[in-house]
Amino acid sequence: MHELSLMDRVRELALAQAEGHGASRITAIRVRIGALAGVDPDALRFAHEVVMADTIAAGSRLELELVAALCQCAPCGSPFEALDGVCLCPRCGAISRELLQGRELELASLELD
Ligand SMILES: [Zn+2]
Repeated sequence: MHELSLMDRVRELALAQAEGHGASRITAIRVRIGALAGVDPDALRFAHEVVMADTIAAGSRLELELVAALCQCAPCGSPFEALDGVCLCPRCGAISRELLQGRELELASLELD
């Protein structure tokens, strides 16, 4: 389950940011996940509990911000949402290879104490 290693990276970033702000506690962690990032939100929540235990982020709230997959169509130039990861332009029917967003998994923000 790669959610654990992903959350591990989020934890490192979060702890470094909290330290930079002189915070003694992280109360909430907001993570942005793209629709095509291939992560399971439930697994991510579980991983969050596991990796944050025994840190100043133990017991923090995990907020997931879901980002839709957006493609840019080269022939007609219109951006569109890639449902189920299929980048088929609804306007002209071309298949796009240009994904604008939807694969991210990143730390969006923190709530510190
Ligand atoms: Zn198009």
